[in-house]
Amino acid sequence: MSASCLFCKIARREIPSHVVHDDEDSFAFMDIRPIRPGHTLVIPKAHVDHFSDLPDAASTKVLMVAQRLARKIRVTLAPPRVGFLVGGFAVPHAHLHVVPMEDGHDLTSQMYAKVTDGTVAYDIANIPPAAPAGLAEMAVRIKNQA
Ligand SMILES: [Zn+2]
Repeated sequence: MSASCLFCKIARREIPSHVVHDDEDSFAFMDIRPIRPGHTLVIPKAHVDHFSDLPDAASTKVLMVAQRLARKIRVTLAPPRVGFLVGGFAVPHAHLHVVPMEDGHDLTSQMYAKVTDGTVAYDIANIPPAAPAGLAEMAVRIKNQA
């Protein structure tokens, strides 16, 4: 736990939130700026900045909770898809977004955006495809990284 971390405070219930799950090592609550209604955040209670640094048990638990919430969201809201997203720019405490998706671009990035005549359009076609050889090389580099 971190004394100053917003999500640690939320998990300790020092800051109120709309809780959807709470157990000894994970916590889930509604995102206050939802991409779509039902947008939920799942966090480990232990303070870890990067999701990729979570111990296996913690990341597994967060994902299990997210899957269960996603099934509930599917039943509750019937979105075509429920997306999972890890970013982490806003709050440096590992968190997984669980987003009911009505549109394929609900989990979007600025890379999708293209401004034409003052209008922002989001289209995956705006992202140039990577060369297969480059992707293969990158996969080997990541796989062989100590
Ligand atoms: Zn924290």
